[in-house]
Amino acid sequence: MRITIASGGPAALPEWQRHFREFDPAIEVLGWEAAQADPAGVRYALVWQPPAGGLAALPELRLIISAGAGVDGILADPHRPAGLPIARMITEETPEVMAEYVLTAALMLLREARLMALDQAACRWNVLPAPRRMREVRVGVMGLGQLGAASARLLAHTGFQVSGWSRSRAAIAGVQTYAGEEEFDAFLGGTDILLCLLPATPATRGILGARTFARLPQGAAVINVGRGSHLNEAELLDALDGGRLAGAVLDVFDTEPLPADSPLWSHPRIIVTPHYGATPSRRDRARHAVRLIHLHERGAALPHLYDAGRGY
Ligand code: NAP
Repeated sequence: MRITIASGGPAALPEWQRHFREFDPAIEVLGWEAAQADPAGVRYALVWQPPAGGLAALPELRLIISAGAGVDGILADPHRPAGLPIARMITEETPEVMAEYVLTAALMLLREARLMALDQAACRWNVLPAPRRMREVRVGVMGLGQLGAASARLLAHTGFQVSGWSRSRAAIAGVQTYAGEEEFDAFLGGTDILLCLLPATPATRGILGARTFARLPQGAAVINVGRGSHLNEAELLDALDGGRLAGAVLDVFDTEPLPADSPLWSHPRIIVTPHYGATPSRRDRARHAVRLIHLHERGAALPHLYDAGRGY
């Protein structure tokens, strides 16, 4: 049985092969180009942003495994074999790793980490006003799926006031939940730190924009760890420069790596991180992929499949 991998480039292939060997030595792991040249028996593909047309060139392909939780890089291929299932990469590590990123980001906002870093770079002893306490701060989580729900739980457990918003109503202990368009404004009105953990769909495109910012309390902050398409960068800069928003932590961008000339890099109220929210280790992802392959070979149901009807 063969799997091809397009994630991390050719340099990552030996590491992927080592991890797959550890979990199932019967699976042969091929690089992307090798599988394109000799696709016989390639039933599985582990990919992040596969070159357009490459998946369609694998006639025996049965399952596409995303190398991350999102599938937007796969959907971007117009020639993708539309009938094939796509499994999202939600490993045991993913929700925990994301929740810890989100907690870190919220605390960085609370403690003015960006200003302190600028002060340190300028050798400036600038004593800031006493910080707000976690229990005084309301974090609103947009998207209460695998990652949003885990993040909401950790934030609430740690001491923040937490609410959440999703398409259908969720029930999470200690978290006030809102659902659908009609409850969106009420959700925003009670949110000091707005966290985006939505999937990239036409409905969520640009949701972090002027209309949303205008409904947050004055001086609120934003954490975007969903996708770059959620954020209207120009409207964020306006909101920060106009004082409507106080700060932002951004992990995902329309263009990645973020270009060196982007104004986001140097803005005094923005913390940029390099799509670092919840990338599980290659070993953890290989273990999960092997588990998916074994389930698929047995004809068993697969967890966290992309649902074309919902669009995520
Ligand atoms: P998920 O399990 O599919 O959950 C998505 C959540 O968003 C659900 O609660 C869903 O509502 C809600 N939602 C979808 N469309 C909506 C809409 N139009 N209005 C309101 N709510 C909507 O996704 P996940 O596994 O938690 O991952 C979320 C996203 O995080 C991924 O798609 C990816 O973009 C991003 N991500 C980022 C990183 C990183 O390193 N930065 C890593 C992994 C993932 P329902 O509950 O009603 O379905």
